[in-house]
Amino acid sequence: LVARKSHKEDTVIVLPGEVTVGGASSLMVAGPCSVESELQTRTVAAALQKAGVRVMRGGAFKPRTSPYDFQGLGMEGLRILREAASEYGLLTISEIVDPRHIEEALDYVDIIQIGARNMHNFELLKAVGEVNKPVLLKRGLSATLDEFVHAAEYIMSRGNTQVMLIERGIRTYERSTRNTLDISAVPILKQECHLPVLVDVTHSTGRKDIMLPCAKAALAAGADGIMIEVHPDPATALSDAAQQLNIDEFNTFMKEMNASGLFR
Ligand code: PEP
Ligand code: MN
Repeated sequence: LVARKSHKEDTVIVLPGEVTVGGASSLMVAGPCSVESELQTRTVAAALQKAGVRVMRGGAFKPRTSPYDFQGLGMEGLRILREAASEYGLLTISEIVDPRHIEEALDYVDIIQIGARNMHNFELLKAVGEVNKPVLLKRGLSATLDEFVHAAEYIMSRGNTQVMLIERGIRTYERSTRNTLDISAVPILKQECHLPVLVDVTHSTGRKDIMLPCAKAALAAGADGIMIEVHPDPATALSDAAQQLNIDEFNTFMKEMNASGLFR
């Protein structure tokens, strides 16, 4: 179902407010790594609206490496995200990690994110395949493209055809970036599948100094959108403090993206 063979035209996902993914215009998904408070979330939402962004991210269920690290605000976080986003006319995306949370989350998110660590969680994939809500599927930490495409197939095989793929870097021996951004994944996925393909420049690089050229490279390679993390005060962030842009940095990033001619 995912394969280009079965569906020649690019799939265009239509979100509320006539925001489209995979069509003529590029999508920017931005927001904090984690929803931490109403103030933090509203501050980012206001900045995103001003910058012309339509979709706000914010993690509420955080799959952290250590169980002692901040685990997210859970449903309360989704509520905060929804309220802040709606106040500023934005759509929401947030990661869901447990099939039992899907039903309740439907009221708060416009897109369900499946995180890299759960790309192989087949019961979760089947569960999001049964709802009528767009899904953004992240590539697993060490997933081949074939495994990634099969994970999308799990979702689509249950009836949900609104699936978007996102390359977020893979594990290699290279240590100068957090993960290795596999830019070749973009044209390969675009050739072999008809689904929208995005690139997460935050988790793939982990380096603020190269996010802009990597985002440009992603769009030049055919990506339909970019994901990037923004926080009002990254140094105090409860997750990914080292790699979130502050609002000034994000504004500069957006200005450069708009000036590049690649962000449509
Ligand atoms: C995220 O986007 O919030 C996240 C946890 O990313 P990943 O699943 O790609 O590690
Ligand atoms: Mn993060």
